Amino acid sequence: MEITVKKSHCRRVIAAIAAVLITGGLLSGCSPQGTESSETDDGTTIAAVTTTTATTVATTIATTVASTAAPTTTSTAAVTTAAPTEARTTVATAVAADTAGHYVQNIPPSWGLVLVNRWNPHPEDFFGSITLVSYGPGRFDSRTKDALDSMIRAGSADGLSSSGASLYRTIETQTKLFNNETARHTAKGYSRAEAEELASQVVARPGTSEHNTGLAVDFTPIDSSFENTSAFRWLQAHCAEYGFIMRFPQNKIAVTGVSYEPWHYRYVGVEAAGYIMANGITLEEYLETFYPQ
Ligand SMILES: [Zn+2]
Repeated sequence: MEITVKKSHCRRVIAAIAAVLITGGLLSGCSPQGTESSETDDGTTIAAVTTTTATTVATTIATTVASTAAPTTTSTAAVTTAAPTEARTTVATAVAADTAGHYVQNIPPSWGLVLVNRWNPHPEDFFGSITLVSYGPGRFDSRTKDALDSMIRAGSADGLSSSGASLYRTIETQTKLFNNETARHTAKGYSRAEAEELASQVVARPGTSEHNTGLAVDFTPIDSSFENTSAFRWLQAHCAEYGFIMRFPQNKIAVTGVSYEPWHYRYVGVEAAGYIMANGITLEEYLETFYPQ
């Protein structure tokens, strides 16, 4: 009981912080001042948050945390199953964000529709159910490698390429990226809790990145300039034919938790991809529509 209460309390605090950050524009796209957005879940495009913004955020976080006097550690005591070490790490380090108002997926309707975001860390057994195969510079889910390959071949005349693409990422790599980003903030004087929250806006917490699933791909350049490429335009017109969606569209951060990423594509299957791209919605909204809670 005590653990449950603490976890619940902690979730509210983190949600409050997230709400402030979203309201404050830290999670939005490129700022009017030209400050690069801090949207990526990848750790590949690290934002330069202005000093003013960082100070404001720090103050806000400190105020929020202090006013609620909640424990700042995330409960990991509930993880007691004999899951693989990697999976346990996933759950143990996943953010206990408040899920109020957000779609929570208990059991994916199919493997291609698994939902992974800050409110939906990987299922504990997820890593036991995927097989990775080499593709281009990395690895991808064996069930979707052919679809990815077909898409890239078809779009190659428009500049789509596997060269430099970011594919599967291990939990260990994600943890390293997250810890590195957290350390950047603790070095500036933030507490561990504050630093982790700030880091999570830039690098997905381990277990909450789609790159840990083997179903997501980033095309280069992995920054906002990708939307000016012919490859981007080709993907917008054709990615759904291969079962892929642009996972983080513009103006959907409240739904996805991630702001605009024109370079990040996720396999969901042809049927879902067709509906999602045609209607300009997100995977979360698709699941809410067809698999309501
Ligand atoms: Zn990505």
